[in-house]
Amino acid sequence: MMYNDVVIVGGGISGLSLAYYCVKAGMKTSIIEKNDTVGGSFCSPSYTSGGNEFWFEMGAHTCYSSYRNLLDIVEKCGIMDTIIPRAKVPFTLLIDDNIKSIVSQLNLFELLVSAPNLFKLKKTGLSVKSYYSKIVGDGNYRDVISHFFNAVPSQPTDDFPADMMFKSREKRKDVLKNYTFKHGLQGVARTIAATKGINVFNGQAVSSVEFANGEYVLRTTGGGEYSAKTLVLATPSSVASKLLRDVNPDIANHLGQLKAAQVDSVGVMVKKSDISLKPVAAMISPNDVFYSVVSRDTVPDEHFRGFAFHFKTGLDDATKRKRITDVLGVSMSKIVHSESRLNTVPSLNLGHHQWLEKTDTLLKEKKNLLLTGNFFGGMAIEDCVSRSLSEFNRMKMPA
Ligand SMILES: Cc1cc2nc3c(=O)[nH]c(=O)nc-3n(C[C@H](O)[C@H](O)[C@H](O)COP(=O)(O)OP(=O)(O)OC[C@H]3O[C@@H](n4cnc5c(N)ncnc54)[C@H](O)[C@@H]3O)c2cc1C
Repeated sequence: MMYNDVVIVGGGISGLSLAYYCVKAGMKTSIIEKNDTVGGSFCSPSYTSGGNEFWFEMGAHTCYSSYRNLLDIVEKCGIMDTIIPRAKVPFTLLIDDNIKSIVSQLNLFELLVSAPNLFKLKKTGLSVKSYYSKIVGDGNYRDVISHFFNAVPSQPTDDFPADMMFKSREKRKDVLKNYTFKHGLQGVARTIAATKGINVFNGQAVSSVEFANGEYVLRTTGGGEYSAKTLVLATPSSVASKLLRDVNPDIANHLGQLKAAQVDSVGVMVKKSDISLKPVAAMISPNDVFYSVVSRDTVPDEHFRGFAFHFKTGLDDATKRKRITDVLGVSMSKIVHSESRLNTVPSLNLGHHQWLEKTDTLLKEKKNLLLTGNFFGGMAIEDCVSRSLSEFNRMKMPA
């Protein structure tokens, strides 16, 4: 049995950032992660072909100058010099397998008539559909803009709270407006995980949690046992709910009310000389079998191009392969390397603010149980790090 001050389940950015705050406060901290690598949705596999290494993003891909809490950790980890700009290539629509600009598909008259609502309408209490259809017009929302919103969490977003989709935050002026990192976002996850004092146990799924004699005891599918005074759950809500079933049924039930969607992502790497598609940041194809194709063209490479197809769930491999080759205009033999990945993203709705208030009430007297993840203030990376920071502060606050 390994004893800790804090044990964290889940090695995505939520768990990693919380671990960082804990070790810097001198606490003995372990992360238990189901996958063989840390990062969760920070997933940047790399592959070497013909002596050339290439990485591409299977999950998160863009950070912003407003990600202050993330940047604070990046700075303290000494990797500000790994921040790199994203090339200015367009976000596009795919209509009948032809790339179109967003503007070309908008009804400009409708947009002009609706746009003044931007200065009148508040997002609070409105869904994405009710807010944005007034800003861009019903037709523009239905035919164009809604597909961009759906591409963000790879699911329908009509009912998401408008104020949780795109937040305005104070920007840092000394950092690029949008950027990525030299080795992809997973490089950041690996650096945080390597912070002195963080113990990481990969390839172990936590299967049960008990609470006895003032300590949590966690067991993993691989037979590992860990104990700690403080437990942090940094997993999808359904996993956190299951793990808390015996130790705190009220919080488990509360977490169990949330819904989430799976993103079935397939990433492919192709030789640059084999593909004629013009450079894009992403392609969104309304009513297709995928929500988006995110490209590595934002960090151009001399030899390769990479594309992550974020598919709807339940498709067979043949359907996915056919769509990938049709969209890219290459045969399977030209795919140098491919990767698959399932990520979980929350499905938020208008009642989420009330859910959050109840969460705070349930956690009030529970300083030894911290909950973080992408289903609190929003699913952006900065929302996750901010949640971890506020949970850390709650733990440290004098009683
Ligand atoms: C395709 C995609 C693109 C995105 N793009 C962006 C973007 O460009 N910019 C942005 O700001 N945000 C983006 N996001 C959102 C953001 O990346 C995520 O919300 C965030 O990374 C989630 O981090 P997390 O640590 O909360 O969860 P996750 O990254 O999901 O990590 C949870 C971890 O818990 C582990 N786990 C689960 N069960 C167990 C168990 N029983 N035992 C041990 N470990 C367990 C999982 O393996 C996983 O590693 C994107 C998300 C996706 C999916």
